Amino acid sequence: MTIAKDLSLEERILKLKEERNAVILVHNYQLGEVQDIADFIGDSLGLSQNAAKTKADVIVFCGVHFMAETAAILCPNMTVLLPDHHAGCPMANMINAEQLRQKKKELPNASVVCYINSTAEVKAESDICCTSANAVKVVESVANDEILFIPDQYLGHYISTKTNKKMHFWPGYCPTHARIRDRDIIRLKQEYPKAKVVVHPECRPEVIALADEVASTGGIIRYARREDVREMIVGTEIGIIHRLKKENPDKKFIPVSEQAVCPNMKLITLEKVLWSLEEMAPVVTVPKGIRLRAKATVDKMLTIV
Ligand code: SF4
Repeated sequence: MTIAKDLSLEERILKLKEERNAVILVHNYQLGEVQDIADFIGDSLGLSQNAAKTKADVIVFCGVHFMAETAAILCPNMTVLLPDHHAGCPMANMINAEQLRQKKKELPNASVVCYINSTAEVKAESDICCTSANAVKVVESVANDEILFIPDQYLGHYISTKTNKKMHFWPGYCPTHARIRDRDIIRLKQEYPKAKVVVHPECRPEVIALADEVASTGGIIRYARREDVREMIVGTEIGIIHRLKKENPDKKFIPVSEQAVCPNMKLITLEKVLWSLEEMAPVVTVPKGIRLRAKATVDKMLTIV
């Protein structure tokens, strides 16, 4: 396949994308220039829903490994590309299938709700999946009153404040969101007294306690569109600031911490997206036995939202 070299990087990607009948799905935490070439940009829930309904032959997933794996689970006949195969999620890797099987033996009466930030093997061992956008609704939908929530202890703790279910947590966490601290919010509230504080539910409980709104990245984007919001203190990965500013150029967005950067998300660059489409690699696949069980877990979630 020959692509004219005098085209810009973005133009070469778009041309090759058309020739491959590919769709580019991009998470809200990606680099700004990667967000700007997206066919769809969103949170894990929106990206899963889009992957499930796309008619393309190829999905270029600009996010981390579990997201590309979820697309491969939902779309077995498509080629799913993750432009850098090192782009993993440390939280998803904090539990594996064997550890989950052991925990299930300790808690035989609990239903397992897994956060979408988990491997396909862990999803296959779980009863239902959720994202940060629908976690409370999913947990409430489970008939059982006892829940084992994996792997994010902080999201689990947040859900437990919204439900009467008896909840057990796995001690996983997001290292990026753990860098968002309550002391920084308290300082910023003094500096910007009119600003709304909006944080992601992967944040620590003491951070969530200071928030006006707790939401997924998709929810944060929607909240920023409200007319009464002019200034916003944002407690999540700072990649989201690009989209917030682009959609709301007359509003002010203040990240709680400039340190809240997910190095894995930032591994995806425009050069790697182009290379990935040229080479049709790296491809993410899930073995059929695991895929079918993991799909049942994800499908259950998609019928609820
Ligand atoms: S921001 Fe946190 S949860 Fe999201 S991919 Fe990075 S490490 Fe994983």
